[in-house]
Amino acid sequence: MHEQHFQDMDRSPGSVGDVLRLIRVSDTTSRSSIARSTGLAPSTASARVDALTALGLVRESGAEGSRGGRRARRLELVADAGFVAAADLGAHHVRIVLTDLAGRIVADTDALEHGTATVPVAAGPRASVAALWDRFVELARDSGLDTARFRGAAISVPAPVSYPGGSIATPSFEPSWHGAVLPELFAEHTDAPVLVENDANLIALAERPGPDRTGTLVAVKLGTRIGSGVLLDGRLHRGVSGAAGEISHTPVDGEAAIGCTCGVPDCLESVASGGAIVARLRAAGRQVSGTSDVLALAAQGDAVVLDELRRAGEHIGRVLSGIVNFCNPSEVVLAGAMSASSVLVATIRGELYRSCLPMVADALDVRASASPRDAGIRGATVLAIDEVLAPARIDELARAAAERSA
Ligand SMILES: [Zn+2]
Repeated sequence: MHEQHFQDMDRSPGSVGDVLRLIRVSDTTSRSSIARSTGLAPSTASARVDALTALGLVRESGAEGSRGGRRARRLELVADAGFVAAADLGAHHVRIVLTDLAGRIVADTDALEHGTATVPVAAGPRASVAALWDRFVELARDSGLDTARFRGAAISVPAPVSYPGGSIATPSFEPSWHGAVLPELFAEHTDAPVLVENDANLIALAERPGPDRTGTLVAVKLGTRIGSGVLLDGRLHRGVSGAAGEISHTPVDGEAAIGCTCGVPDCLESVASGGAIVARLRAAGRQVSGTSDVLALAAQGDAVVLDELRRAGEHIGRVLSGIVNFCNPSEVVLAGAMSASSVLVATIRGELYRSCLPMVADALDVRASASPRDAGIRGATVLAIDEVLAPARIDELARAAAERSA
């Protein structure tokens, strides 16, 4: 197995990597609070902190707050100890963001003046990965980052990704990418981990709820197509092969307006996606070139378009209600271009509250993502940082450092 997700390995409580996790999730961590919350002896807790300091990942600063006598020094992640790259890959556009280890953006191709980065998607995955890697390096240099501090990356793709192998399955953005294993191609350029993940799964990660980010949530990407990701207790639910959450190929009681490679007749995507609405309006003689035209007409109050959006919302809500009843999330978050339609969002919400079990609906919040354009890239950043700072990976680094100094 090539791709090893360290973040999915069970962590050992109180290990060096686990102590780093505690420091990352709380901004009031000290040596004594680590001893208290892990149950480690104070001397052991201190040794863990020393190991992290030696790795350059943690520093002590300021004071935790007075507790009477001595003031405890506050521990914090050294955010600029490294950087990660995140890329959001589409058929026509790629967005690349570099962040420090705290997730603060250092470079963003969408914010550059001539920012639209391109990748030769049609030339195949190997050429595209080489172009992505060149762009990572170029952006890092332009931002004054030391490329030796590159720690890892995550790539968002609009297609199912097999797990744990990382191969892309039946991508609609470029069929020739079927079976491509991007992490292996990146290994020709770097030893650092590069993960690839489905875009809707990354939206789920970006939106993960709860102060300690361990909530349960369903994320739905409503674009030309429909995708969804499920987060259970803070972890992506990928299923045995990575296809979990592919709700869009559930058959619905409607008529397909576009073809779909899934082979399921009248699947949700072929009936109710943005692409299906565009196709249906065109067949009725309307001049619409894409989902942005649909949104513009809806904003003008076009009755036919609003009707289409309501019908699509009912189909989507009904399919989602089964998933929501099953996993009892605190939130359903809608992202993607079509989530800008308040009629679509309101219809999905109404359908969910109508169809779900009252006990499930009472605990449920249905909302559009606050930044639907950024959700995918934010999720890729979260995935990359969680991977490079995964407790199991940090434990490995600490072990190697201890062996070197022995
Ligand atoms: Zn389908």
